[in-house]
Amino acid sequence: MPQDPAFTSPGRFWKGNIHTHSTLSDGMRSAGHVCATILGAELHAPATALGEIRHILAVGLPLDFAPNAPGETGPDLAARALAAGAFVAIPHPGWYALTTEDANSIPGAHAVEVYNHTSQLRTERGDGVYLADQLLAQGRRIGLTAVDDAHFACDDAFGGWLMVRAEANEPEPLLAALKAGRFYVTQGPLIEDIARDAEHVAVRCSAATGIMALGRGSRAAQSVTPGQRQARLPIAALRAAGGFARVVVADAAGRHAWSNPVYFG
Ligand SMILES: [Zn+2]
Repeated sequence: MPQDPAFTSPGRFWKGNIHTHSTLSDGMRSAGHVCATILGAELHAPATALGEIRHILAVGLPLDFAPNAPGETGPDLAARALAAGAFVAIPHPGWYALTTEDANSIPGAHAVEVYNHTSQLRTERGDGVYLADQLLAQGRRIGLTAVDDAHFACDDAFGGWLMVRAEANEPEPLLAALKAGRFYVTQGPLIEDIARDAEHVAVRCSAATGIMALGRGSRAAQSVTPGQRQARLPIAALRAAGGFARVVVADAAGRHAWSNPVYFG
């Protein structure tokens, strides 16, 4: 049975954000407060299906990464970032109605933002789960991230972050962990453990109202009970549907934590 490497790999969890802006981009504060240890960039290039500028998040770019070449498309730019060794994510898809076709034009992307806090606060379009589940249902293997994307035009910091499993809080092991999917993401709830056997997934977490295992299409198993800190959920129906299973924890304040998917077969 495949296990989630965020809970079986050596090391400990490090809390971090991979998408926040500073005065070096279009944010309104200097980078001094950010605990980032990896150089990243939000790259912009033409164009989405709706004709808008495409956004690509790349973490771990080399310092000599060249700016956009004339005429370089979003997919070309993403491919170049991937080739340079970056962790590449598809940011805020809900904010600008990104389609599955747009996402599929970046076949190597490691993750989709399932939650973008500033997009939620400012446009009520912070959700990216719709896109992740469409891509996963197609059979694509892709991780889930949650970020604040804080620009500091409003109080938009600390709304979403990653818990990355690594042996050291250093750029190289953190970047390797990101690329290997050794993380979960959250708006606040903690996932302490996820363990799977052939028929069940067992989850331990901070106090939750809902603990869920979600699969292809509408496949789901859940325990909805206020204050619970663990659940053991049947996954036979998820496995029978093929594809994947991922865990979501929801707390009484309406905040969520999302695991990365594991894949059957
Ligand atoms: Zn953006």
